[in-house]
Amino acid sequence: QLVPIRRALLSVSDKTGLAELGQALAARGVELVSTGGTAKALRDAGLTVKDVSDLTGFPEMMDGRVKTLHPMVHGGLLAVRDNAEHAAAMNEHGIGAIDLVVVNLYPFEATVAKGAERDEVIENIDIGGPSMVRSAAKNHAYVAIVTDAGDYAELLGQLDANDGATDLAFRKKLAARAFAATAAYDSAIGQWFAGVDQGEKFPPRISMTRVLAGSLRYGENPHQDAALYLPAGPHVQGLPQAEQVQGKELSYNNYNDANAALELVAEFRDQAPAVVIVKHANPCGVAQAGSLLDAWNGALQCDSVSAFGGIVAVNRPLDGPTAEAICQIFTEVVVAPGADEAARAVFARKKNLRLLLTQGLPDPRRAGQVLALIAGGILVQDRDNGAINAADLKVVTQRAPTEQELKDCLFAWTVARHVKSNAIVYAKDGVTAGIGAGQMNRRDSSRIAAMKAAEAAQTYGWATPRTMGSAVASDAFFPFADGLLAAAEAGATAVIQPGGSIRDDEVIKAADDAGLAMVFTGMRHFRH
Ligand code: 5GP
Repeated sequence: QLVPIRRALLSVSDKTGLAELGQALAARGVELVSTGGTAKALRDAGLTVKDVSDLTGFPEMMDGRVKTLHPMVHGGLLAVRDNAEHAAAMNEHGIGAIDLVVVNLYPFEATVAKGAERDEVIENIDIGGPSMVRSAAKNHAYVAIVTDAGDYAELLGQLDANDGATDLAFRKKLAARAFAATAAYDSAIGQWFAGVDQGEKFPPRISMTRVLAGSLRYGENPHQDAALYLPAGPHVQGLPQAEQVQGKELSYNNYNDANAALELVAEFRDQAPAVVIVKHANPCGVAQAGSLLDAWNGALQCDSVSAFGGIVAVNRPLDGPTAEAICQIFTEVVVAPGADEAARAVFARKKNLRLLLTQGLPDPRRAGQVLALIAGGILVQDRDNGAINAADLKVVTQRAPTEQELKDCLFAWTVARHVKSNAIVYAKDGVTAGIGAGQMNRRDSSRIAAMKAAEAAQTYGWATPRTMGSAVASDAFFPFADGLLAAAEAGATAVIQPGGSIRDDEVIKAADDAGLAMVFTGMRHFRH
């Protein structure tokens, strides 16, 4: 089952590590065969290379569309070596065996990502490359196929361990990666044709690639295995792209919670300093203030009990004083666009704290789709990127909100869309005063939020809870007046909600009776 590598065919678009690989193979006595650009790069590195065109007796032609599509290549890849008929065919036609194929494909996705014209995109559909990859992978009993520059070191390690040969287990592993690579490649092309080229919203196939680093330690619970995948296509600046400066590896729950924090704090990109603290995918404190430190204090005071062991995201580079304050309590993950020297030094003292720097923040209004698995199927929907601004609001009560109430309404509304339904969020002066999440009825969410505000008042010795004189946001309409009355009882003076209930009149009357100002957004933000 050991196959010595005598002849290798290299044809790569991404020439990273190519010269070193070529040198290492040549040093082991391997004959190198290559296509135009790859052969040139290898020769530039001082290596002896045979051109594929010499092998096939045909020039590379038609702008490189036809280079390796030839029986002299595919015969050498597909022949079953211990099959007498195959061996005879090789003999008759002078086909030499190829033991190793190193191919990476035309950069289709990168070409799309850079906004190239249609013709250039089409030209970047690799045909010969995937054919070789698939031939070699099918014939993994004899041929090793490497499709990623990241695998070169592993290949050389394998050759060293086996005196210049590959073993079957390794070739099988490579074949699996190879078919996954061509499948993802073709899916990306199919998605481009359907989506970008023909404006079809839901492509016929959705493809994903497992992040090379591999699996996560475990899933939501220790008995669940888990892995991280990247969708095919251009990537949004998110957690998988972030730099982890320090701390333990991110767990499944860390990713999930940190993402919730990042998506919420991204709502405040290009705005005043903002801090979000998340627990179990729900924010437990959000604040915007003149400085990150003040915002941190505001967010923490909303629900300091829940903030313990939380995930923190901020909308601008972290500074030392804010880092000091965050480190006063146990924090699992901190996500920020950046961190200055002082902040890094502070975090460095907390070895386990995971610090992730994202550079930018994702555009909260970007288009995209989200998936949810159900038994026997996958639900796909657009991201909830809908947004309203002050001009879209409809005042439905006798009293219109004051300027400050309106500001607080919009802030609470922004937070509420990131809270699991039923979501009720009280806010005052750019700080959440109480958050009620994930209840099966709106009245309970209202009460829980008020209860948290009352607890915070007790903890910090405030005369009244911060819900007094606050604005309250509800992610969906109040079906009855009770949820609204619970909010009024907690001291809210302004309400923001979608409206649209058949009992809107009843709810509006209750608001008027309580002297509340209420605005309708006309847009609902369920989140499950
Ligand atoms: P090079 O830079 O060596 O000229 O080209 C390398 C690229 O050509 C690789 O990405 C490989 O997948 C691709 N390739 C190899 N053979 C063929 C072929 O016959 N047709 C096309 N379109 N691409 C090929």
